[in-house]
Amino acid sequence: MAATILVCGRLFDGIGDALTGPVEIRIEDGRIVERGASTGHPSGARVVDLSDRTVMPGFIDTHVHLCIDGLNLRQQTLQCPATKALGGLHLAQQYMRCGFTTLRDMGTLDAEWPTVNLRDAIDGGLVHGPRLVVAAHMISATGGHADMQGAFPCRCHLGLSKVADSPGRIRELVRMEHAFGGDWIKTMNTGGYMSFGDDPARVTWFEEEMQCLAEAAHQLGLPVAVHTGAAEGCRQALRAGARSLEHCYLIDDEGIRMAEKNGAFLVPTMQMTREDKALLEAHRLPAQATWKFSRDVDAIETAQRRMANSHAKIAYGTDCGMFPFSHGILEFQAMVAAGLSPLRALKAATSVAAELLQRNDIGVIEPGRQADIVAMPGDPVADIAATANVDFVMRAGRIYRHGTYDPLR
Ligand SMILES: [Zn+2]
Repeated sequence: MAATILVCGRLFDGIGDALTGPVEIRIEDGRIVERGASTGHPSGARVVDLSDRTVMPGFIDTHVHLCIDGLNLRQQTLQCPATKALGGLHLAQQYMRCGFTTLRDMGTLDAEWPTVNLRDAIDGGLVHGPRLVVAAHMISATGGHADMQGAFPCRCHLGLSKVADSPGRIRELVRMEHAFGGDWIKTMNTGGYMSFGDDPARVTWFEEEMQCLAEAAHQLGLPVAVHTGAAEGCRQALRAGARSLEHCYLIDDEGIRMAEKNGAFLVPTMQMTREDKALLEAHRLPAQATWKFSRDVDAIETAQRRMANSHAKIAYGTDCGMFPFSHGILEFQAMVAAGLSPLRALKAATSVAAELLQRNDIGVIEPGRQADIVAMPGDPVADIAATANVDFVMRAGRIYRHGTYDPLR
């Protein structure tokens, strides 16, 4: 395949502490082969002029739900897994147009494996879309955050939830996730806001249950992501060796210190709090969420500032699916509003997210890595809102968006 040369005005490479440039990037066979002031232009090379753009690694969102429609769960639970996978494909493609070239999907509510199938279809080149890393289902205690028994209709008596209340059953569920192609194990050790009958301020796993889940996952080589709220839930997840803590709604100073020490990643999903706050103010938050969220919203925002002021590793994650994917890009602005520097927010969506995913082939613009690259007008270090104006998207060396060329639209 002929080389592609990107002529870049400014570059954020994913790890540096300042923009550099002008710089050129040479890409061959989907990978970056050279980066420098001038890479030379071999005959036949395609030259792409991004000299008036800021260029950076493709964004990585480490917490989405492509196959959960949070606003229409009741209707969606009657859909078959193929319908969910096709809907997820559409969302993934539209999200890639905004600059997201890798997504970690954090679970479905389906007895089958639609996100695993979608990941495999994209990997196999059957359809175009971002790289997917998936936790197929969410493992929860009875009455815990992912327990949908009785809350929604299900299709043909197929269970929506993966519920366990004993070490044996927990191991069985982890083994099933492994056997059917999950990349991660996702669990919930506290309640959540939108669910019925649980409370984010209460821990739902006992210590032995959380430890058992983590041990089973680690033995099978799967990292663990824990939806968690209560400060004690955050600490319990960290004690069990979770690789990432999702939301961390009520994390305290001790939890932050533990995360800093053991290197766990925090995924604070700050835009979701803004979405829920807007619903609360408009009196449109569902009743089961209103009492919990109105009680906690100030404490959640305090915890987010605590995370922003820490040295813990913070990765970009949104929870899109629970709210529209078109708002997922706003996590950058929410992070900066909470106190992260723009550079740290950019790293959260590139090199830090790649480290969370244990992927040393993405997230940084350097020779040897996949050519997942985006560009935008303006300077996102000076004004983080520039991230919302991506108009060039490349994944594995293939251009999916450039000016008026926009085939996935
Ligand atoms: Zn989620």
